[in-house]
Amino acid sequence: MDRGTAGETVRQLQRLLNSLGVQPRLQVDGRFGARTETAVRAVQSQLGLTASGVVSVSDRQRMQQRLAEAGAPQPVVIPTRASPPPNAGLGSLLFASAIMRGETDPSTLLRTLGAPTRRPFAWPVPGGVPLPSRLAGYVRHGTLSHRPHKGIDIMAPRGSPVVAVEDGVVLFARRGDNGGYGNMVILLHPDGACTRYAHLDTLADLQPGQRVVRGADLATVGSTGLSRGPHLHFEIWQDGEWSSQRQRFSAETLRANGATDAVIASMT
Ligand SMILES: [Zn+2]
Repeated sequence: MDRGTAGETVRQLQRLLNSLGVQPRLQVDGRFGARTETAVRAVQSQLGLTASGVVSVSDRQRMQQRLAEAGAPQPVVIPTRASPPPNAGLGSLLFASAIMRGETDPSTLLRTLGAPTRRPFAWPVPGGVPLPSRLAGYVRHGTLSHRPHKGIDIMAPRGSPVVAVEDGVVLFARRGDNGGYGNMVILLHPDGACTRYAHLDTLADLQPGQRVVRGADLATVGSTGLSRGPHLHFEIWQDGEWSSQRQRFSAETLRANGATDAVIASMT
């Protein structure tokens, strides 16, 4: 396996490299690009293998063996061009994006949040109804249909409250176009997940770094940015990737908010 390889085996490799302590964590996208190659070289040299950037069967066995050995892996810090510049601090979209994509380590921020909780998320718009994902994609990206739509769109009247789905810390809360997302809030949660709330109308007085509790008012539903009508565009990120809404909301929560089986099935 080497640069240019793609698919499930690369995903497995990327997960393995992340488990071995690669910092910043790799995005598990199944594409063996420059960052994966750099991470492979770093791990190979740490394990005393030839740092070729090419993964042989025996390299992989050695990596898996290391994982099975006792003791936490040593962090393997790899350089990345995607790291935000030093002036991109908390409160900037660049910084929030780097944390969402797993390119910046959020552990300092997470320390302020205490022990991770892993319970189903609260619903972000009380009374808001989720649209089927494909339809939502059309609504959200009617003019940019080539963009993937991995969030969910929740229909609710303009002005409906948008709340934090879990305890967290504010990474970003700012008005503006924000790349089509409009007025937007991004939170980081104790287990490292991030949530994005987009197309908002009014924002609560939120400062980057501020802690919020589950259920706290963040904003109201609007139609700012690239949007065709009032709705909340909501995304969950975990381990540098878009995460499944179906996994993070309980079926009871989804059904209680009007999600039909077809809508639930359409969620990523
Ligand atoms: Zn959307």
